[in-house]
Amino acid sequence: MTKIPFNIPPFIGTELKYVQQAIDAHKICGDGQFTRKCNTWIEDRFGAPGALLTTSGTTALEMAALLCGLEKGDEVILPSFTFSSTATSIVLTGATPVFIDIRPDTMNIDENKIEDAITDRTKAIMAVHYAGVACEMDKIMEIARRHDLKVIEDAAQGVMSTYKGRALGTIGDFGCYSFHETKNYSMGEGGALILNHKEDIEPAEILREKGTNRARFFRGQVDKYTWVEYGSSYLPSDMNAAYLWAQLQEADRINENRLATWNAYNEAFAPLSAQGRLVLPTIPEECVHNAHMYYVKLRDLRQRTEFIDYLHSHDVGCVFHYVPLHSSPAGRRFGRFNGEDVYTTVESDRLARLPLYFGMTEEERSKVIETVLSYFAQ
Ligand SMILES: *Cc1c(COP(=O)(O)O)cnc(C)c1O
Repeated sequence: MTKIPFNIPPFIGTELKYVQQAIDAHKICGDGQFTRKCNTWIEDRFGAPGALLTTSGTTALEMAALLCGLEKGDEVILPSFTFSSTATSIVLTGATPVFIDIRPDTMNIDENKIEDAITDRTKAIMAVHYAGVACEMDKIMEIARRHDLKVIEDAAQGVMSTYKGRALGTIGDFGCYSFHETKNYSMGEGGALILNHKEDIEPAEILREKGTNRARFFRGQVDKYTWVEYGSSYLPSDMNAAYLWAQLQEADRINENRLATWNAYNEAFAPLSAQGRLVLPTIPEECVHNAHMYYVKLRDLRQRTEFIDYLHSHDVGCVFHYVPLHSSPAGRRFGRFNGEDVYTTVESDRLARLPLYFGMTEEERSKVIETVLSYFAQ
């Protein structure tokens, strides 16, 4: 068998048909029919008051940070174990990222360490739903309400996941999705901003459309459109939206297919876990996940390096992430860590991700499983 890649971008087969329709409609810029279809689909499916496609998950986070009104001197609490974008969106506004520790079971922000990091400059909490498994949102929302803080959900990995029956991204004040090629649903580069308060929809439209009231103009609410506020260009091409539309229509099939691989891995490795030879992902009872990722945790950095080398030498893709942001060059420059790093560094050093993509064959799945089992049988 040929090499099993770590990821293959999702492809359903109807993408080209819809991209062609966008071209034929002579509407390839932003906010054409496919963008509107995707926005509406997200709103209806996840019960969101507003959803706007963006050019990336990163720009969705930037919009959320700007809409929170963050500015220089403000502080935002987030986990150190996350992708750079979660923090860059804060830095863009001049605010300071305050990193805290994660929980070792879900690798998510430790909700019990948030309050200790709150100062009179704290304005928001960023909850990153790692691997599409929800943070402890009830506790996070309760803390936020008590201290009058905004909550931004970085649900880049959490499209189609739920927490107590509610879609990730719809629980905080803002939710951010990614449709990058490494995510469950893709448009190449893209994302969406979820607006959970009706009153944020219009400011978000203005911000996304170069600071103009173009959306109001198209709805016939004003007779001319003009520059009204600070803004930028965060709307993707309708060709990209057409590509995503094909996948949203098959969202359940993609989700089930990924879950089948995830469950096959989890069953196959359960005996190793029972023997204490590796640690498998924890899914809390209140969470339904979307099989965004399958990771295992090895003993330590040394064993992880050996494990990844072994998989690579057997033609199985395997990667790790993230370098904790508080120890990265930019993280040190722009942010600070509050409290003690009990789990972030130790747990991130142990983590390895296995191949998981839509359309993985039975054979590919088996080969990954056999290779992992053979590593432990040595
Ligand atoms: C992928 C990802 C992002 C960024 O999304 P892009 O669409 O690549 O900009 C942000 N946060 C997390 C946790 C991610 O996994």
